[in-house]
Amino acid sequence: MSRFLKEQYQSLEAYTPGEQPRDMQYIKLNTNESPYPPAPSVVEAMTGEQVELLRLYSDPTAKHLKERLAGLYGVEPENIFVSNGSDEVLNFAFMAFGGNGAAFPDISYGFYEVYADLYGIQAEKILLEADFSIDYRKYCGKNKMVVIANPNAPTGMTIPVSQIEEILKTNPNSLVLIDEAYVDFGGESCLPLIARYDNLLMTRTFSKSRCLAGGRLGYAFANPAIIADLEKIKYSTNPYNINRLTLLLGEKTVDAESYYLEKCAEIQKTRAWTAEQLEGLGFTVLPSSANFLFAKTDKMDGGELYRKLKERGILVRHFTNPRICQFNRITIGTMEQMAVLVGTLKEVLYENV
Ligand SMILES: *Cc1c(COP(=O)(O)O)cnc(C)c1O
Repeated sequence: MSRFLKEQYQSLEAYTPGEQPRDMQYIKLNTNESPYPPAPSVVEAMTGEQVELLRLYSDPTAKHLKERLAGLYGVEPENIFVSNGSDEVLNFAFMAFGGNGAAFPDISYGFYEVYADLYGIQAEKILLEADFSIDYRKYCGKNKMVVIANPNAPTGMTIPVSQIEEILKTNPNSLVLIDEAYVDFGGESCLPLIARYDNLLMTRTFSKSRCLAGGRLGYAFANPAIIADLEKIKYSTNPYNINRLTLLLGEKTVDAESYYLEKCAEIQKTRAWTAEQLEGLGFTVLPSSANFLFAKTDKMDGGELYRKLKERGILVRHFTNPRICQFNRITIGTMEQMAVLVGTLKEVLYENV
């Protein structure tokens, strides 16, 4: 730390992203990326000509992308904010709307706590139930910003939209942020509620279901006043927040919707197969509506299992939080990758190799 850092940041604990190792080729099941490439039309859109156009700034209004998203989801462009990954809109939301403090589950996306710390927001962490579900009643009438990932991460479990509606109704004067990063893998979206609740902000990402994690593209739905606030923050920090190439690929991605629906269905099929296999090996597997499974076994410590898999070229995500340190979060890859995982687990757990 230099002596120049403001006092308020000196004790900040930054977010720890999942490993992106460069030492060897792993079967990479640790950061919930898609195992599939983007649609062919997206890949073909990336030409030398487009790279040459990088001499020009990108469109700060993201007009074409917003229009396409509006068309696909049946909302107005004024209901949409687009961002450099959904992390950016989460960042802006905590910056803009966390005035009265924030409440979120104790086990959820780790960045919520980091953003709260970054902006000096009092964070109330509400314990998940013993079965890792969310009791919505604990989020009613909080009178502070409520943040819930639905499906939640790293559990993969969902909360019904009817219960989110209760949270919205009982917090009329605070923002309720629903992070739908994983909604395309079987979750239920809050989208129909944005017309009725002016305190709802939903975030989405192209990183998981749209095979574009490295492109860094996210978006949000909300009523136009909330979107205008986010735009104000954006124009006060980085108006050209999304690069030209990513904007273009995002547009092409929206145009190729059916390709991505197919891939999401494929991942759900592979998820069901993998869960069955893991249960057959004696794992406890939480019910997942996301592109990952959260699983533990009595046969081996969670950290040890993580290390044994890594030695054998398979990367999964392990968290050291004592409440979940027996679990590993396993991204759903291709069927072939999951078959290798299952075979390796058999070796590691039953053959003492
Ligand atoms: C992956 C993830 C995000 C952020 O994704 P971006 O790559 O920044 O779009 C946000 N929320 C949750 C719960 C996630 O798992």
